[in-house]
Amino acid sequence: MMNKRQNNNPEPRVSTASEEGQAKQYTELGRLKSASRSAGLEEIRPHDRLVRQAAEASALSKTFVISLLLGSVLLFGAILLALWALPYFGASLLTPEAGRLALAVVSGLFGIALLLAVIPAGALALNKSLPCIHRMRGVMNFVLFPLMRLAGIILRIPKSKVRLAFIRLNNDLARVSRIKCRPDELLILLPHCIQKSTCPHRLTHNIQACVRCGACTVGPLLNLADRYGVEAVIVPGGTVARQMVREKRPKCLIAVACHRDLTSGIRDVAALPVFGVLNERPFGPCINTSVDVDKIEEAIRLFIIKA
Ligand code: SF4
Repeated sequence: MMNKRQNNNPEPRVSTASEEGQAKQYTELGRLKSASRSAGLEEIRPHDRLVRQAAEASALSKTFVISLLLGSVLLFGAILLALWALPYFGASLLTPEAGRLALAVVSGLFGIALLLAVIPAGALALNKSLPCIHRMRGVMNFVLFPLMRLAGIILRIPKSKVRLAFIRLNNDLARVSRIKCRPDELLILLPHCIQKSTCPHRLTHNIQACVRCGACTVGPLLNLADRYGVEAVIVPGGTVARQMVREKRPKCLIAVACHRDLTSGIRDVAALPVFGVLNERPFGPCINTSVDVDKIEEAIRLFIIKA
């Protein structure tokens, strides 16, 4: 397998089964702990919580994502109905005509939200391609994510889990929308924390300054990008990422980041098909992070037109 050559980790990479995914995360943690000792990074303590979070992300099921999506819209409908019913039946603030008009508005809003949720949920459940999915993404990002957040608050679902569900939803929609591009139209955005903190090379202006020494994931990622003929860039933050997208005008995007940055990034570039890959953060946020190179290869193969 081509991708095995790129990966210095001798552990087999499996991303679908939750137990194996968790085992992989902890194996990776052990590897990084010993790497930190040899690299003089003893002062940076690996964060078990973040490793557990990555394992949780790979274990997040499609059923949970669809349930959260539909549940959040039904909850929205219930809130709208309550808002309509309170003045209508309670204080009699509305005339019968105004009450009927308010009911029509409430029903209309609920109907739109339900349609926006049912179409992607159906496409995901049946794994069917729908050409309208991509065009609807912007509106879905704008409407559905706030509803999912609202449902998360009411149902006491952790914010991080709602974000992970949103990223999974976005990725599954990118998959079923089956949008393709040429390799030169695909851009991979990498966060600056993926570069080893002790590396003397400055990559934010020119990623090719990396000498591919093998001390962090940047080298294998560049090898992968070269193999497929796609461009990869390192960005220091969301503002530069948006600027880079405006400058390079890619047709499709692969973004690597933590769940918080990925969520905001996906919403920012709603007009583009984007596949989000979570980074691994065994040393805590924003330092010596890593990414599963196999997942990046999977995303590249999802987008590019086969020769
Ligand atoms: S692989 Fe590249 S970015 Fe990473 S430490 Fe080596 S030279 Fe620096």
